[in-house]
Amino acid sequence: MSTLRFNSILESTSHKPINFSNPYDKSSEYFGSHVFNMNSMREYMPKEAFESVKNAIDKGEKINLSVADQVATAMKSWSISKGATHYTHWFQPLTGSTAEKHDGFFEPTSDGFAIEKFSGSMLVQAEPDASSFPNGGIRNTFEARGYTAWDPTSPAFVFGSTLCIPTIFVAYTGEALDNKVPLLRSLQSLDKAATDVAQYFDKNISKVNATLGWEQEYFLVDETLFMSRPDLVMTGRTLVGHSPAKGQQLDDHYFGSIPERVMSYMREIEFECHKMGIPVKTRHNEVAPGQFEFAPVFEEANIAVDHNSLFMDILEKVARRHMFRVLLHEKPFSAINGSGKHNNWSLSSNTGLNLLAPGKTPKRNLLFLTFFINTIKAVNDQADLIRAAIASASNDHRLGANEAPPAIISVFIGSQLSQVLDELEKLENGKLSPEKKTDLKLNVVGKIPEILLDNTDRNRTSPFAFTGNKFELRAVGSTANCSVPMTTLNMIVADQLSQFKASVDKLVSEGLKKDDAIFNMLREYIKSSKNIRFEGDGYSQEWKEIASQRGLKNTPDTPRALDFYLSKSSIDLFEKTGVLNKVEIEARYEILQEEYFKSIQIESRTLGDLVKNHIVPTSIRYQSTLSENVNRLKKVLEKDVYEKVSKEQIQMIVEISQLVSEALNGVNEMTEARKVANKIDDLRKKSLAYCDKVKPYLEKIRYSVDKLELLVDNEIWPLAKYREILYIR
Ligand code: ADP
Ligand code: MG
Repeated sequence: MSTLRFNSILESTSHKPINFSNPYDKSSEYFGSHVFNMNSMREYMPKEAFESVKNAIDKGEKINLSVADQVATAMKSWSISKGATHYTHWFQPLTGSTAEKHDGFFEPTSDGFAIEKFSGSMLVQAEPDASSFPNGGIRNTFEARGYTAWDPTSPAFVFGSTLCIPTIFVAYTGEALDNKVPLLRSLQSLDKAATDVAQYFDKNISKVNATLGWEQEYFLVDETLFMSRPDLVMTGRTLVGHSPAKGQQLDDHYFGSIPERVMSYMREIEFECHKMGIPVKTRHNEVAPGQFEFAPVFEEANIAVDHNSLFMDILEKVARRHMFRVLLHEKPFSAINGSGKHNNWSLSSNTGLNLLAPGKTPKRNLLFLTFFINTIKAVNDQADLIRAAIASASNDHRLGANEAPPAIISVFIGSQLSQVLDELEKLENGKLSPEKKTDLKLNVVGKIPEILLDNTDRNRTSPFAFTGNKFELRAVGSTANCSVPMTTLNMIVADQLSQFKASVDKLVSEGLKKDDAIFNMLREYIKSSKNIRFEGDGYSQEWKEIASQRGLKNTPDTPRALDFYLSKSSIDLFEKTGVLNKVEIEARYEILQEEYFKSIQIESRTLGDLVKNHIVPTSIRYQSTLSENVNRLKKVLEKDVYEKVSKEQIQMIVEISQLVSEALNGVNEMTEARKVANKIDDLRKKSLAYCDKVKPYLEKIRYSVDKLELLVDNEIWPLAKYREILYIR
């Protein structure tokens, strides 16, 4: 039996999974202990330097080099006290993961001794030898360099023996080469626009932050089984594998208890995260066997994005200590639910208000409705950009696969708020009568309950759902860097709020009262963004039809979704909000198209190898065994007996031959399609060729291989099977 096969591999390894026990009683004793946060800064830095950094964080003021020297000295002493020997500029290049290049503090002196050195200039700027990071043609490797620069708004931390300094990564000529620069720009643009609008209601509001609470889904698989699957190693997903008899149809995993080995892993993850100040709070099993989730308490968006990137890194590093591998891929197993990363997003003011939460008074609720309706309007007008922001080869498997939101962008708000919007929509144009206004404030706006009933009305099928005090963007892929969808959301809402303010101010200048003007604009937006609102089942065929009648786009694949970046209106919007300029957008577009076709290319090559080197030889071996057996039977049995008992075996030989032939034929045709695609120079056309001409073979070939898996002797099948990988022992 193949279970025995793999048990013996497992038993032969020298490591035993560790049983992690936390040396502390309470997280509060060590939470943030490895972060250079306000407390450690205050302790280690002179007062002026501390104030200067604080102003940089709160007000975006510049830090001069002598202050940077003081900060560096403090960081060095603090981090050495935490065991750091090296430092790195930690950044998020466009590959989607994080990058680091370590340098020691150690510096030999001329008299034969050594000192630990870390200066302001080393803190502020560095030139990683980064010519091999994707740059979409912006940076010509031999004439310009990219450099990293300190982002003081996200605190430095010690991870292992390294002081990590969050940085941005830009080309020598100033263009953004990373995911952080556009995020920071979008946050700035949103702060300005949202503060201006919030001031209609509350003059004390002088800063608005976007907040993000991510929920990260992932699979865990045993390391030995992982290593036995070239497809998992090379592509992060299984390219073949028949569904096990028991998949997720019993829904027993979601409610089940967490296996002990996984629990030990999760406890160590929490320990590491809490030291790094990542406030993970929730852990549980997910729907599929072997699938789990972590979620933190929400934070300011830039910090939350950094924390998610670091979290993914921690997930993978700690997994190895427990003889696990983490699969962050959106769809590691066919016919089993994939993984996503819900991005819970809201707006928070310096006065402590959540601008997307209803409150107690009509005035407070008018503020809420203003931000709520403007967000819906923004998504209505810029749904294409949201779709582009979640596009990736791996997420294509998930969107619309009846387990995750469809590729059609829509907004769910629940029945109570739908009623409120319906009431507001009925308002007449222009000036409202005092009675009407009082009635509206008391009976509509004033009646929005602080806690919305359908807070828990979970429409899991909606890609963008309002959940009581925040919007939840559910279509983000589990491998994604949250910064891309968050940048887009911040940007489109910022632009929408600026338009709103301009319109309200115009109406006021024409003689309307401020609240009349606000009601007028909100009513107009409710009308013009009706198409994007959908309360029904997003998985249904019916929705596809309704959406198409409404003119909403259904864009199931990445190469076409990416095209949305290049429309004139998109480029205008990116430029107007200062988030990216045309050169930067075009560079990103190229990088993403390239990443798309390369990932299909890798999958296609890996599957070709699997079929030719693993599946076919094994199948033929079994086929020969069967043939030999049939031949022997023919020799030893009476003719009529032989004819009676050999039929099924001969049938199996035929079936195996047919499937082997289909699989090989598929691989040959796929290779030809790849050759054609590889000759195409135009990136977009190449990406489309991979999508339309190569990708379909992955499914086609898999079908034959999965049938073979059911026919061929289990003892010699070369790959670990789903039932072995998915159930953690
Ligand atoms: P679930 O969706 O799994 O039922 P919750 O809705 O309670 O869980 O919360 C999910 C995530 O939403 C958490 O990460 C939480 O911190 C985050 N969240 C809650 N309030 C906000 C907010 N105001 N802004 C951003 N994220 C928030
Ligand atoms: Mg959620």
